[in-house]
Amino acid sequence: MTVRMTAQQVKKKSGTHKITQQDAQELRGQILGWYDRYGRDLPWRYKGGAKPDPYRVWLSEIMLQQTTVPAVLPYYTKFLQKWPDLNALAAASQAEILQAWAGLGYYARARNLHACAQTLAAQGGQFPQTPQDLRKLPGIGEYTSAALTAILYNRPAVVLDGNIERIVARLFAIEPPMPAAKPEIKGSAAILFDDCHDRPGDLAQALMDLGAAVCTPRAPSCALCPMRNFCQAAAKGMAEELPRPRRRQEKPRKQGYVYWIENSRGEILLERRAQRGLFAGMLGLPTSEWQAPDKDLPAHPAGFKAKAVQQKYPLVLHSFTHFDLALTPIRASVGRKPAQCEWQKKAGLLDSGLPTLFKKAAKVFLSLEP
Ligand code: SF4
Repeated sequence: MTVRMTAQQVKKKSGTHKITQQDAQELRGQILGWYDRYGRDLPWRYKGGAKPDPYRVWLSEIMLQQTTVPAVLPYYTKFLQKWPDLNALAAASQAEILQAWAGLGYYARARNLHACAQTLAAQGGQFPQTPQDLRKLPGIGEYTSAALTAILYNRPAVVLDGNIERIVARLFAIEPPMPAAKPEIKGSAAILFDDCHDRPGDLAQALMDLGAAVCTPRAPSCALCPMRNFCQAAAKGMAEELPRPRRRQEKPRKQGYVYWIENSRGEILLERRAQRGLFAGMLGLPTSEWQAPDKDLPAHPAGFKAKAVQQKYPLVLHSFTHFDLALTPIRASVGRKPAQCEWQKKAGLLDSGLPTLFKKAAKVFLSLEP
């Protein structure tokens, strides 16, 4: 029997048809069918209707903010071994948490994680159930509150991280560049999420997996995609062009010194950074002020004296979200140990939980010992 498609079905197949609420239901079915077959098995996933553990899901969502699954996995395992539940995490010190977080970046997340655990533990250990109440907690913004609402409580929520934004921009062929496209992306995503009453948590996680494996930033695998019959960007041959990136702005640069100060016992001076600003409360190698390169190099901190050395050290370069930093390595001595500093054994320094910037600097000094 020959099956004839209606004009509307033909349009839908070609992807030029605007996705309606009715289409969205069919689309969700395709996405969830794909997830049931190909969704990733991850330690924070609860498949087949299993009841999620709020602590484990929340921990994963905080770690996954701006960080990939492969980078998060070893940290997630380590945190669960050290702090298997909310009360254990709340009882840890901030320094312990920062040390265990070292290398994962965006350290404000670790401080907020701790503050959130303490707030929840003081309130009886229960996570709030509405996005509005979740957003009152430290470190939980619009995305995380939506993800927790969908995953923990199986309630419809528009879950939009970078991966899902990309999928929605393509599905609906949203052409303005980012970030101007965001309101349109959010409105279009609501078509997908709003009426999903049966498996909203799975829908969000399915889209996260599709963004990681199929609708990738470069060379999306449209032929393998469960959304291809609805995808307007694929139909227009512009999948890879969307979403259009924001115009690249040159980052400001900063410069300064990073110091290697060793005592007669072979210990290295580390400085606990102030409780505000980058690396707040963390231990690192001492540095000077960081300032714009059009100024002279900053003065050494009081009591620090540069040593004359033969080696020429390479600059330690590091890129933060808002600026690039170049630190000049200096061997130095210090008269009296400053109050915010402590001595740490040189052996094992690289494994002691230094943030990446200081680990890079320590490697430079260790590789060029006089
Ligand atoms: Fe992405 Fe291609 Fe799927 Fe469209 S068809 S959602 S562009 S992978």
